[in-house]
Parts: sequence; C-alpha cells; structure tokens
Amino acid sequence: MIHLISSPARSCLGTAILRKQLSRRGSTFSRTSLRSDAVASMPLAEDKPHTHTLLILGKPGGGKGTISGKILADFPSFQLMSTGDELRQHVRNQTAIGVEAMKYMDEGSLVPDNVMIKLVINDAMEAIKTGRSLLLDGFPRTLEQAKVLDQNLNVDLVVNLSIPNETIVGRISDRWIHPASGRVYSYSYKPPKVKGLDDETGELLVQREDDKPESALRRLQMYEDATAPLVNYYEEKGVCQTFRGTMSDVIYPEVKAWLDDQLAEDKVGAYAS
Ligand code: ADP
Repeated sequence: MIHLISSPARSCLGTAILRKQLSRRGSTFSRTSLRSDAVASMPLAEDKPHTHTLLILGKPGGGKGTISGKILADFPSFQLMSTGDELRQHVRNQTAIGVEAMKYMDEGSLVPDNVMIKLVINDAMEAIKTGRSLLLDGFPRTLEQAKVLDQNLNVDLVVNLSIPNETIVGRISDRWIHPASGRVYSYSYKPPKVKGLDDETGELLVQREDDKPESALRRLQMYEDATAPLVNYYEEKGVCQTFRGTMSDVIYPEVKAWLDDQLAEDKVGAYAS
C-alpha cells in the first residue's frame, strides 16, 4: 500500500503561463534555469530542450537503484549518475578517490563532502549541458552537498522513498552482488539462477562489505543523522514528493504517475513551439 504525502507541488500551470509571458517578450529560455524565486533575475538563454535535475532520496537499501532503473526505462531523456556505482568503479580501478573512499564505504560511513563534491558537481554540470535531464541517485546525502548542488544546478524534482526500517534490514542482508560487473541479486525477489553464482559469468557472488549487519545498521543511522534532513529541505522548496511502501514494484507506478504529471508541461511547451 502506498501513501502519497502531499507537498506544495510546483505549479505547472504557473510555469506554463510564465513561459508564454516570456515568449511575448520575444525571448526563449532554458528550463534548467527556471525557478519561481529567481524569475526576476533569470537570464534568458537560447532555446534549448527542457532539462530537469531529478533526485532520488531514501534509506540505504531502500530501492533507489531499482526505482532509478525503472525511471530511465520510462523516461529516456534522463541520464543517470549513481554515486555509489561511481565510487565502486573507482574502488575497483584503485584510483586515488577509490582508495580514499573505500575505508568509509566498507565501514558504512559517508565519504567526506569535499571528495563527493569534487566527484559529482563538474560531471553533473557537463551532463546537463548535453541537453538531457539528470537523474541523481545517491547525491546529495548531506545538507552541505545539497547546498553546493543548488549553487550549480536547479534541482526541480525530488522523489523521496520512505521505506520502513524492518524492510530495509531484511533487504540489505538479502542482497548479493557480482563484484566485477556490479550486477545485484536479491534472494527474495531477484534470485540468481544458481544459488551463489552470477547468471552471466558463473562467478561467485559476494555480500558487499557495507551490507554486513553491523555496517548496514550504521548506514541507517547515518541516513537518519545526515540525509533525512534533506527531505525537509526540498519540501520547503516545493519540489519533493514522498512515496511510502515496502515494494518497488508497487511504489513505482505512483512515482511514474507523479513524474508524468510534472513533465507534462514539457509536452505542452513542445507542442506550442
Ligand atoms: P546505499 O544507498 O545502499 O547506501 P550506495 O551504493 O548509494 O548505497 O552508496 C554506497 C556507499 O557509498 C555509501 O554507504 C557511502 O559510503 C558512499 N556514498 C555514496 N554516495 C555518497 C554521498 N553522496 N556522500 C557520501 N558518501 C556517499
């Protein structure tokens, strides 16, 4: 069962009206720079495709990766940046970032803000310049990261997944991965064909260091302390929608419906031009 928590929704109609007013002034603008509180000083740029920055917030092991995959399949204009995946790639390649990050990741702590900001912000800005929208999974995870992100990109959509702790703890201990590819399995709802082995290579599956019980509990506590305040932060900006439930397959249709609604205005804009 899913409950939608209402938050002050961004007014699509208001934005559409604003678009008309601006085009009457003989100008077009980039949607990326459109925020209701910054309209007066908003630079009017060349016409570009509408781009969005969408965040997925939620507890570790709460299905952010699964929901992100489904969003990408249904909304191909989005490109994904997953900080967890990127960090694991750095760890596999033994880069300087990987070596630094590994000690925090293995014990279930957050990688320091300065490392994360360096890793994400430039790439995110480059990605959005391609004209595609951005889906950020795993960033920001602290208020400091959120503020720096805000200085550089306009976060206009936030999906907050609210999953009970007992579901999370069960799910984390159920998750096994194929380290070379990053493929993820779950014994309860996405089991490998042969127990303990990767479907494609037949190689051994392992449990992530940070999925072991002690680290998993630390990550949940870290979430409460460092990341949960972001829900308020984005609710106050009127861009956050919370989805409650225990199963991604049940939650996702609600997420999709909300995104369809939020993005409908792009189609109106496209037909109008
Ligand atoms: P989960 O959401 O299940 O915790 P992720 O794959 O998103 O897993 O992240 C794995 C680990 O990578 C985190 O526990 C943390 O150590 C590190 N990490 C990822 N994103 C960030 C971030 N934005 N800030 C700090 N640490 C991060």
